[in-house]
Amino acid sequence: MKILFLSSEVAPFAKTGGLGDVGAALPRALAARGHDVRVVMPCYRRVLEGNHRLRLLIPPMTLAVGPARLSFDTLEATLPGSDVPVYLVRCPRLYDRPNVYTQDGDEHLRFALLNWAGLRIAQQLGFAPDILHANDWQTGLAPLMAKTVFAWDRLFERTRSVLTIHNIGHQGTFPASAVHEVGLGITAESFHQEELARGRMSFMLTGLLYANAITTVSPTYAREIQTPEHGVGLDGYLRARRDVLFGILNGIDEDEWNPAKDRHLPHPFSADDPSGKAKNKEALLRELGLPQRPGVPLLGIVSRLAWQKGFDLCFEALPALFMQRDVQLVVLGSGEPKYEAFFGELARRLPNRVRFLNRFSEPLAHLIEAASDLFLMPSRYEPCGLNQMYSLVYGTPPIVHRTGGLADTVRRWNPMTGQGNGFVFDHFDARGLKWALGAAVDAYRQRRGWNRLRDNGMRSRFGWSERVVEYEDLYRKLCPPTA
Ligand code: ADP
Repeated sequence: MKILFLSSEVAPFAKTGGLGDVGAALPRALAARGHDVRVVMPCYRRVLEGNHRLRLLIPPMTLAVGPARLSFDTLEATLPGSDVPVYLVRCPRLYDRPNVYTQDGDEHLRFALLNWAGLRIAQQLGFAPDILHANDWQTGLAPLMAKTVFAWDRLFERTRSVLTIHNIGHQGTFPASAVHEVGLGITAESFHQEELARGRMSFMLTGLLYANAITTVSPTYAREIQTPEHGVGLDGYLRARRDVLFGILNGIDEDEWNPAKDRHLPHPFSADDPSGKAKNKEALLRELGLPQRPGVPLLGIVSRLAWQKGFDLCFEALPALFMQRDVQLVVLGSGEPKYEAFFGELARRLPNRVRFLNRFSEPLAHLIEAASDLFLMPSRYEPCGLNQMYSLVYGTPPIVHRTGGLADTVRRWNPMTGQGNGFVFDHFDARGLKWALGAAVDAYRQRRGWNRLRDNGMRSRFGWSERVVEYEDLYRKLCPPTA
């Protein structure tokens, strides 16, 4: 099948979170199944500054987008580990900025251009997609565009669209005037009229209304977002479209995240020979200047420090844990000031036990997953979550809140039966987290049980090869063969 895949993040070109991983791994997995996948993303400043091989594919074109005239050219790169072409929309006026996402007044225009450019590039190349696969709000206008402003072009006659929701907490909601500013004034009647009457428009809602199918990144999250508690105002629309809403768990990239051949680890290891794990811990503690304390568990956190991730519970639970138990903690992440201040303060107060690495570092993320004994991920909500799966295959049992993809991948450890792969608390409160932390530290002391628990995680299969067939089945359902 021919697939046009639009994403605001594709690793290694630009990544701020899990979307970047999926934006690379899913196209790669589809291509490995023989599909013709073309990926379109913005050419941010960091893409140009990165060490990527880029070539000019399409010379500049100018689009009238509402009152703006936007010029862009198209560069081409190849997705590492595949032959998948990545088309980079180079428009310095919109993308030559320090960050991928901004609070700037033209954020709607920045991503509207991605939608326009994706379809225009397909036209330039004569690429007739069977599937237009959009991801999150940033590409939520494309399904509508394909059905309206591009409908005259027979290239898109057979095109069916899929919108994947990676996080419903970000909807791309702008003042209603944005409909004209993004160049869709002529099809303003297609937008949700009550929303417009309330003075706003939403990229995500538009995508939900016009995509032929909607997916989200875990079965539990697919159910949760249909409830008022988790739907962030869109649950009613999702219930109305539940016949075409599917939960497909994300996979992990087993080339990138595999402890046996991870180039970031000084000591590779595997379920069959986990001995390297302890050496990685030694190496990390040395690098961090923390004392080597055999028998004392090291907790790891690698995360965006955002409200979603649930670290508010740590304000109470972690100081209590450090009072009662002998543990060490390493935190890698950046984000909201209050969480940065909390972990910074904890590290200052407990210099022999806690390190806070306030940055984004791919090599450290890998080393922390490998070196820690336990991984902490108390998310309030979690559409899928990748880090808990990484930590499972790296022999680092995760401590998680039972929500979204965490509920689908982490099973509570039961020392009586030897079943389970981590520590799960049901209620999002400090008591729940404290209980789970206590249970985890206790389990760590039981050497035999611990080895079993760790082994259960390391032997799980979370690769894309199983997941990709679910997307393939969906694509096929949407595109009946022509007679
Ligand atoms: P989300 O997409 O909500 O951020 P996920 O668990 O799905 O959460 O994916 C997070 C991804 O971002 C993982 O690949 C994780 O390793 C990475 N990540 C998050 N914070 C950092 C950081 N500070 N340094 C390196 N990688 C990070």
